[in-house]
Amino acid sequence: MMTATRRATEYTAGVDFGGTAIKLGLVADDGEVVADTTIPTLGHSSPDALVELLAQTIRDLLRVTRPAATGLRGVGIGVPGLVDVSRGIVHELVNVSRWKDVPLGRLLRERLRCPCVVDNDVNVIALGEWSFGAGQGTWDSVYLTLGTGVGGGLVLNGMLLRGVSGSAGEIGHTIIQPDGPKCACGARGCLEVFIGTAGILRMAEDAVRRGKSSKLAKIAQEADGQLTPELISRAAALGDVGAKDVWERVGRYLGLTVASTINLLNPERVVIGGGIARAWRWFMPSLRRTVQEQAFKIPAKAVDIVPAALGTRAGIVGGAVLAWEQDRRVGGRGSGADGRVRGALDTSRAARGGGMASSPRAEGGRT
Ligand SMILES: [Zn+2]
Repeated sequence: MMTATRRATEYTAGVDFGGTAIKLGLVADDGEVVADTTIPTLGHSSPDALVELLAQTIRDLLRVTRPAATGLRGVGIGVPGLVDVSRGIVHELVNVSRWKDVPLGRLLRERLRCPCVVDNDVNVIALGEWSFGAGQGTWDSVYLTLGTGVGGGLVLNGMLLRGVSGSAGEIGHTIIQPDGPKCACGARGCLEVFIGTAGILRMAEDAVRRGKSSKLAKIAQEADGQLTPELISRAAALGDVGAKDVWERVGRYLGLTVASTINLLNPERVVIGGGIARAWRWFMPSLRRTVQEQAFKIPAKAVDIVPAALGTRAGIVGGAVLAWEQDRRVGGRGSGADGRVRGALDTSRAARGGGMASSPRAEGGRT
């Protein structure tokens, strides 16, 4: 359903390109999603046809805002796959075999006549959480997403860190056990092997097999042996020792990587999102304990480890921030976009009592 409110103005479109559904919305300068909708990712005759539908849907959204939008500033798109950010090319798209080297940025720009920026979906969500979610008001914020895979995005010094070939932030592939099980990336003992959904389910199945988890075993039986992270949490809530132990180990494994990240980057905040983060209350105590034990004391004390705040809106909001960020890089300091991103920082800083206003980095910026 399309929904809309608010005054007439220019908006920025954020597009969250998922493997099965594409969520898109119009975002105002204060991060509010003023209109949004969903279209299916699959079932189109060609990438071109899908881009055409995407462009048309954005035009439709612009029309349903009341009063009508006066224009479209830009579009920011997060895709699950391999992206050449500088050229807006999607090399590969997870789940969609026909997408090979699609110039998504150019195809959309030709149709909408505004800047269209493409980046990795986790980077986009990291930008969204940093600007308007749980990372708001910080200069250095690490975002982690826990789900099928374990992804990360780094905002350092108020900028998304992409690295020389665009792959910075792969926190899920920090190695926590040198001779550990093989990871999909080819290395051994990556964090993702242990606390990606498959790894968590493997731990739970082991607990059932060892016969120490009667409640989890019963729940698994009722689900025809198909355990899920939600069911493990349910067993933990019923007091199942094995289920609690699974989450305790998830927190410990995650804590090792978070501790290393804290030592490496000294971030102000670590934001944790993704489906697995719903088990926050179960893995958080051992995560915190591990960080206190393993990280340097001063940076461990300085960091806040918090759950993500934007939920399913993160990709849309982050898409808009991506478009502004690009605008800022292209336009240089003092451009409109720079003011907007800084504005988001200033608003939250004011809300926190202005503690960061005197930061030397607040003056120079980096463009
Ligand atoms: Zn790996």
